[in-house]
Amino acid sequence: MLKIENYINGELVAPIDQQYLDNINPATGQVYSLIPDSNAGDVEKAVKAAKDAFPDWSTCGIDTRAKLLNKIADLIDQNLEELALAESIDNGKPLSLAKSVDIPRASSNFRFYASGIQHFASEAHFMEGTAINYTKRSAVGVAGCISPWNLPLYLFSWKIAPALAAGNTVVAKPTEVTPMTAYLLSKICIEAGLPNGVLNIVHGLGHKAGQAIVEHKDVPLISFTGGTETGKKLAATAAPMFKKLSLELGGKNPNIIFADCDFDDMLKTTIRSSFANQGQICLCGSRIFIERPIYEKFKKAFVEKVEKMHVGDPLDANTKMGAVVSEPHMNKVLGYIKLAQEEGGTILCGGNQVSLQGDCAGGFFIAPTVIEGLDYQCRTNQEEIFGPVVTLTPFDSEEEVLTMANATAYGLAATIWTQDLKRAHRVAHQVKSGIVWVNCWLLRDLRTPFGGMKQSGVGREGGFEALRFFTEPQNVCIKL
Ligand code: NAD
Repeated sequence: MLKIENYINGELVAPIDQQYLDNINPATGQVYSLIPDSNAGDVEKAVKAAKDAFPDWSTCGIDTRAKLLNKIADLIDQNLEELALAESIDNGKPLSLAKSVDIPRASSNFRFYASGIQHFASEAHFMEGTAINYTKRSAVGVAGCISPWNLPLYLFSWKIAPALAAGNTVVAKPTEVTPMTAYLLSKICIEAGLPNGVLNIVHGLGHKAGQAIVEHKDVPLISFTGGTETGKKLAATAAPMFKKLSLELGGKNPNIIFADCDFDDMLKTTIRSSFANQGQICLCGSRIFIERPIYEKFKKAFVEKVEKMHVGDPLDANTKMGAVVSEPHMNKVLGYIKLAQEEGGTILCGGNQVSLQGDCAGGFFIAPTVIEGLDYQCRTNQEEIFGPVVTLTPFDSEEEVLTMANATAYGLAATIWTQDLKRAHRVAHQVKSGIVWVNCWLLRDLRTPFGGMKQSGVGREGGFEALRFFTEPQNVCIKL
């Protein structure tokens, strides 16, 4: 059986104590490879390699760094088919999605920051007749990058690319749930000729390998994407050490639909924003609020479409809904569906595990689920489910929908559907979320700040925001 290896100091290596974890294909339920169960010793080796590589990498010049990042992007493009297949098998997502979104976006991340670092300028401030201040921005050192399972290579590269572009070296830990494409990326980095120790990838469990990275005294900055509870633990560890911390956490996003929207466009997009990647995108709109005059029309049309969605083998070209990522996650989502019923919700469609035939008989599949009749303050409407489950709630006024939309502890993304321009701005400005889409969803410009308010995160990724995070500013004041 394939054993994934760590990537440390330019080499693929086994974990020090030779311990491995099972890697399960969620569409079949079968173990298909083994993941290093790395410990603090493996992290120590990786941090040392990264620390040793830092002086050369941070001073080799942006052209050299940009060239290498572009080479990695080229190799990702050249290996699109292999990477997309690996992502689909590892995660359960439809192969078509991995091919059209995850892997192309991973190469875009490297290309974007290869270019971004060449346009990254720092500020100068003139004190008229007195002094000039200029801000020098330098790489910080060894960056710890920790990522989740829902968009494995896409989110892993979203951290690594800006960290490296800015001149940091990196110790990264992909999630233990979907480690395969990070492993393939390490092979790509070797082929691209990335100098030894510049990027190190340590596989393993969060509370063990991940925790060791966060605790390490020689890792002064941590970029983390994952759940809010994990984010709290990380922050508690990092705060007394005064580490720089970027946290991209959970969401419970509102999708606000006004009666004057372009109904067909809204309906098509709302299917995607509800169920893309089996609802396992932090940006999915899981709470759908519909203005009362079109509530029944929406409900009928939406449920009709959802019932037709094909849950199937992720490798089948017709599959729109693949497997959820793991058995524990499937059970968590099914638990929330049960809770919704206990809380008085009515299941309009779905609500059950789906059993497939053949190779996928042991897989973790859930029918896309639509629920109505719940109070906006109940647990189903407050807690992140992170699966193919949405709730429908009618509203009568802007004020009412804003109260409901803003009623959770989260504030990551919101979607607004209306043709009234003034209302679009008015509502957008009052929704407490870091990202607002009007009449669209997941339309991403990599230059824009990305991140959440409230318990959805601290700091922003994207564009120059990430380059600012991955550099340390120093002000130099020169008297005239
Ligand atoms: P998770 O928090 O369980 O794990 C994320 C990563 O943290 C994994 O690599 C894990 O091994 C590691 N980890 C766990 N405990 C750790 C510890 N004590 N120290 C260091 N590392 C540790 O999250 P998940 O289940 O993999 O991902 C799903 C969550 O991620 C959802 O809440 C989702 O909303 C969120 N997410 C947020 C964004 C965003 O941009 N805001 C994007 C994608 C996913």
